[in-house]
Amino acid sequence: MSEVRFVNVSKEFEDDNKGKFTAVNDATFTIEDKEFMVFVGPSGCGKTTSLRMIAGLERQTSGDIYIGDRTVNKAHPKDRDIAMVFQDYALYPHMTIRENMSFGLKNLKRPKEEIEKKVSEAAQILSLENLLDRKPRELSGGQRQRVAVGRAIVRNPKVFLFDEPLSNLDAKLRVQMRMELSELHKRLGATIVYVTHDQVEAMTLGTRIVVMNQGEIQQIDTPEELYKNPKNMFVAGFIGSPPMNFVRGRLDGNIVQTVEHALVVPEDKLLKYAEYQGKEVVLGIRPEDVINIEHLPDAPAQNVIEPVIKIVEHLGSEFLVYFGIGEETIVGKISSDYHMEVFKKHQLYINMEKMTLFDPQ
Ligand code: ADP
Ligand code: MG
Repeated sequence: MSEVRFVNVSKEFEDDNKGKFTAVNDATFTIEDKEFMVFVGPSGCGKTTSLRMIAGLERQTSGDIYIGDRTVNKAHPKDRDIAMVFQDYALYPHMTIRENMSFGLKNLKRPKEEIEKKVSEAAQILSLENLLDRKPRELSGGQRQRVAVGRAIVRNPKVFLFDEPLSNLDAKLRVQMRMELSELHKRLGATIVYVTHDQVEAMTLGTRIVVMNQGEIQQIDTPEELYKNPKNMFVAGFIGSPPMNFVRGRLDGNIVQTVEHALVVPEDKLLKYAEYQGKEVVLGIRPEDVINIEHLPDAPAQNVIEPVIKIVEHLGSEFLVYFGIGEETIVGKISSDYHMEVFKKHQLYINMEKMTLFDPQ
């Protein structure tokens, strides 16, 4: 069993003025055996600190950390049976790829034959067989990245830890390595904990995702749940591109009244958001839920608005269309089958079946 569990784990650092700064606040979660768990959030939210606490490179200020069924609160990093892949790969420049990949096992004084076997297996999985006698500087960025992963694989750890491993690669290579990492996860059947600030990477790689902000866990869910049912405005605004639109309004009966429109709320959403009845709310609409009514065969009778379009951005198969509701700018992601013109009014359908309501505070 290679699950990883945090129970009420916090980490405080002393700041420059000798005050205390909470990098991770009261985190409780379980990463299941064989899960690909991604930690995502803006820079400085506590992702790396969380990972380093799992690795034992940082000691928590309070709380308990378990790997498998034992606590590792006091365990040294080398006794935790984990392997970490860093953003900068941390390869030894003067060693060959083979030596780099063997290094950890040699330190553990494993027999030579075992080391050779493990290195050649990992090299095969990662298509590095022909590069084993080269030095890191003779490899491309993507190949170096694979060596860093290979060095982790040969150790056959209980848990793999990845800290933004793709952030030094160009966009195309990142997409390719993303697929390779997903395949690797299936092939190894390993528990992976993966940190990134990139929500697309999180959504494509994670079987579940932990969204963090300012040291606090905001939500832990599958990519689909995070997208469909974000728990708060931070998660809603962080996941998805362009981000969810927010419009202030008030829920009265089955209507959300904004400064300009009365939008009708479907039955199931009324039940879900009964607590907001008669209150100020923030209405969340995903860009793809703004639809040009020319795309709808039966023109809907309600939830059609007719704003003046301010900007149209061409993305090929889609337009990003910007318009205002009151003071707020809304963006729609609209199929480019029908022409849309700037400074003209267009009839747009707001799909309230998919909307989310939030507490404004
Ligand atoms: P992330 O990986 O999400 O970008 P980190 O976990 O690296 O964020 O850092 C979280 C916060 O903790 C940041 O504000 C960072 O400045 C602070 N921090 C991290 N490590 C230390 C440290 N060794 N000493 C003091 N503050 C730190
Ligand atoms: Mg970090």
